[in-house]
Amino acid sequence: MNSHPNDRKVILLRPRGFCAGVVRAVDVVSLALEIHGSPIYVRREIVHNRHVVADLTARGAVFVREVSEVPEGARVIFSAHGVSPEVRREAEQRRLRVIDATCPLVTKVHLEAVRFAKAGRSLLLVGHRDHEEVEGTMGEAPEATQVVSNAAEAEAVSVPDPGRVAYLTQTTLSLSEAEEVIAVLKRRFPAIQAPPSQDICYATENRQRAVRALSPLCGLVLVVGSRNSSNSNRLVEVAREAGTRAALIDDAGEIVPAWLEGVATVGLTAGASAPEVLVRGVLDRLAALGYARVEESDAVPEDVHFALP
Ligand code: SF4
Repeated sequence: MNSHPNDRKVILLRPRGFCAGVVRAVDVVSLALEIHGSPIYVRREIVHNRHVVADLTARGAVFVREVSEVPEGARVIFSAHGVSPEVRREAEQRRLRVIDATCPLVTKVHLEAVRFAKAGRSLLLVGHRDHEEVEGTMGEAPEATQVVSNAAEAEAVSVPDPGRVAYLTQTTLSLSEAEEVIAVLKRRFPAIQAPPSQDICYATENRQRAVRALSPLCGLVLVVGSRNSSNSNRLVEVAREAGTRAALIDDAGEIVPAWLEGVATVGLTAGASAPEVLVRGVLDRLAALGYARVEESDAVPEDVHFALP
């Protein structure tokens, strides 16, 4: 059954979209292009968003997988997700001029890994094995670190000395999923040391809290973000956990009108790497589909900025 046209509206969630780490990383590439001109090499996607990468590519950034692809002596930018010490060493050997756009909140987790490993603790890194951030953090203490991706792995993992173990997490996990895994680790290793403060970053937490609070009011939640964006995927999961249908879309072109059948209220948010211009495009598309009324909801206050490197 279709909703009545007068009932249809969009709840635009806040906070959404770019976090302080992404603003900083994108600004670093833009400024480097302005100051030094093209080409500026960037190791991996500067942030996980297809549109941001395409825009910077058009302006002269050259994205590579590994520093070995960068000509000796050239300028290279490390992405917001951070790199392992091995990548830094390789860049040094190739005499690359490095500009580091690693988010300070990722660097914080790296420093914790170094400190715990130096203190002789085994490290359990809660996160997704194939994510660049996890690769980078793991590289700080590869012999001491094991990745734990879910509760089943937390049940199975073993360490040489259960009295000397610590855990860390990826910055962009789902709060509820991380809690579940950490609860298992604490039960199995009562002496486990936690990081001094939560590793899941403020932006991930705030965007998830807003989705959790407002999803029950919506028949459908749309999350603007790319498929490889960890925090965007987690927003979809949080909405679904709240019992609401949800979809991840890269841009307005991916909206399927059939999703809106019977939906009175559409919730709209964006992952930390998705630019606001894409959200505006989705609003225009939704308006054309009969959802012209927009209410902006300030679920969680946020005002965080990072200085440029
Ligand atoms: Fe930094 Fe969090 Fe943004 Fe990642 S999502 S860049 S950790 S602020």
